[in-house]
Amino acid sequence: MLSARKAVQQMHEYHPPLAGRKGLRLDFNENTEGCSPRVLARIREITAEDLARYPEREPVEAIAAAYLGLPAEQVLLTNGVDEGIHLLCEAYLEPSDEVIVVTPTFSMYEIFAEATGATVVRVQCDEDLRFPVEKVLAKISGATKLIAVASPNNPTGGVASREQLLAIAKNAPGAALLVDEAYYDFYGKTVIADVGTQPNLFVARTFSKAYGLAGLRIGILAGPREQMPMVRRVSSPYSVNAVALLALPVALADSKFVAAYVLQVKAGRAQLENDLSRAGIAWWPSEANFVLMQIGKRHCDFVAAMRQRGILVRDRSSDPGCDGCVRITLGTSEQTERLLVALRDVVPELKLGAGVSA
Ligand code: PMP
Repeated sequence: MLSARKAVQQMHEYHPPLAGRKGLRLDFNENTEGCSPRVLARIREITAEDLARYPEREPVEAIAAAYLGLPAEQVLLTNGVDEGIHLLCEAYLEPSDEVIVVTPTFSMYEIFAEATGATVVRVQCDEDLRFPVEKVLAKISGATKLIAVASPNNPTGGVASREQLLAIAKNAPGAALLVDEAYYDFYGKTVIADVGTQPNLFVARTFSKAYGLAGLRIGILAGPREQMPMVRRVSSPYSVNAVALLALPVALADSKFVAAYVLQVKAGRAQLENDLSRAGIAWWPSEANFVLMQIGKRHCDFVAAMRQRGILVRDRSSDPGCDGCVRITLGTSEQTERLLVALRDVVPELKLGAGVSA
């Protein structure tokens, strides 16, 4: 009988709860408004010829590289950050290797690492969910081949500083350090300039979040000059589709659109944090477009009550160290207003936090 590799049989499954997402989408950290109208207009102009050809990635890669301030040879366009993670696992991991992930975090690091047969070493954040740099440094061994750090992290919104990340890169010269900057646009700090000098540092970016293009599947993997040819070897030349390639230069050119959206998200984040504090609900400081909060025992009721009011939020209770936690994405100012109105209703109804309406 046909059987999958042992490592695959033992893998965890990941099924994001995408079914029945009707309402205000504050559950997946997407752009809640949609992409720039200019991008949509460009997509509407697509011809049959555009689709009949195999997509040519290099010219758009050069544009992405210029945007990042890196030589084109250090930049690979990917089918979202997900593909970037997959490629690093394919290029670097043997079954005898170890991969360090800092939990709670984005699931795909573990999934793609497990598929290779490598061992995943989980480093749990402290109770305050701050980045546990000392614990990560202590776990680095001769077997460590990949270290994945999301900064800002999902679902916590916390960050690792440049100094912490460089300390990890320097202490693990035989490992690839992936800094996943999927939420960079909401944070503004990056280690992209260090990709030019650190021989083992990779940075991933996505257009799924602030740019509103999650459905197009496009991201960037930037890495050391000597390493990128190895990563390109395991990538399909056509993994980024023609529509995404046509859209990207227009998306990058409309920086005003992204800046205006980010401003609204940050203002909304501050308002939400303020309301949560007044209601006596604990939350973790976030540099991303979402906030993780401690709802407690009634987390399922909370998600259901919000859904009843047309607002989708994400239960993160089963993430390690996140018992009773819910994550809420921020969108436009108008949407934040809707969110806060619903919260002011649901919090006293379920007697959450200090039981005080915000
Ligand atoms: N990295 C992090 C930290 C994320 O939270 C997500 C989306 N949930 C991704 C990567 C996925 O990005 P993409 O859509 O580009 O594959």
